[in-house]
Amino acid sequence: MSLKAIALLSGGLDSMLAIRALQLQGVEIEALNFRTQFACCRETATRAARLLDVPLTVLAEEDAYLDVIRRPKFGYGRGANPCVDCRIYMFQRAKSYMDEVGADLVVSGEVLGQRPMSQKRRDLMVIERHSGLEGRLLRPLSAHRLPATLAEQSGAVDRARLYDFSGRSRKGLIALGRQFGFPEEDMPSPSTGCMLTQQSFAPRVYDLVRLDAENSPWDFALLKVGRHLRLDAATKVVVGRRESENQLLKRMAAEPASRASAVLVPQNFQGPTALIVGPATSEALDFAGGLILRFCHYEGADTPHLEVDGPEGCVVREAIRIPEAETAAIL
Ligand code: SF4
Repeated sequence: MSLKAIALLSGGLDSMLAIRALQLQGVEIEALNFRTQFACCRETATRAARLLDVPLTVLAEEDAYLDVIRRPKFGYGRGANPCVDCRIYMFQRAKSYMDEVGADLVVSGEVLGQRPMSQKRRDLMVIERHSGLEGRLLRPLSAHRLPATLAEQSGAVDRARLYDFSGRSRKGLIALGRQFGFPEEDMPSPSTGCMLTQQSFAPRVYDLVRLDAENSPWDFALLKVGRHLRLDAATKVVVGRRESENQLLKRMAAEPASRASAVLVPQNFQGPTALIVGPATSEALDFAGGLILRFCHYEGADTPHLEVDGPEGCVVREAIRIPEAETAAIL
């Protein structure tokens, strides 16, 4: 009976190589792609699956994934990326899928030492152990540098036909891709495309998880929209950067899961939309109005007015310049 493996497929070169290496040994592969709201590579995964001729299932994150970001056991990388915990989460789900479809092992394109946060030897071992895949997580590209998996021990996978890649160099991997006949355009760069790794994005993630104990999936979705500025520990204001974001903020404020306490829209001038998370006090409304003036550089002769949809229903309020809004730091 042939071996069946579940392979994590990001669509990057490494995962493609890992799959092809096992296909050449007659292993039947089914690919899984994980989509999180911060890292989405479904299109490249779809293209890679087509090239490799493997069935692809795309799994979206569940709400439990947010706990990985809130409280990573193994810490963050340079941004707010909890890569070790994130990989454990993905492999736990891959294991469930493997058990569900009766596959024998999980395959990953990880290369020892390639990424600083999650591919050091200790990280790879931790990920294997915590995902419940001891002996059943095969990394074909670095197999010679790692303990043999059960499939290699039994001879079902020929270890001699696997690889000993390590480190950050892409040269050998690209050469292998060419040997496998992958077209140049299907050998994408190893970029994760994950917003959590961006150092410029990290402050707003930390701000949310450290200051807002009630944070919800809605708050995480909001992190990707607008400029975020904090008035105090309980109150944050999000200001749209372009018309599409102004519209999105209004839509998000109207969602059933919304935690917005007020939405402010310029009434008699052109400017961004602002949304308040936290108590919509008079001080918070003045702060949000001041931010609107700041970001649209209002210089008109008329007194600027805002439509405020908040705790008092829809009211009109004057926007005033206040020092707190002029100097508030953007997260
Ligand atoms: S880069 Fe992002 S998606 Fe990839 S393992 Fe790290 S946190 Fe997870």
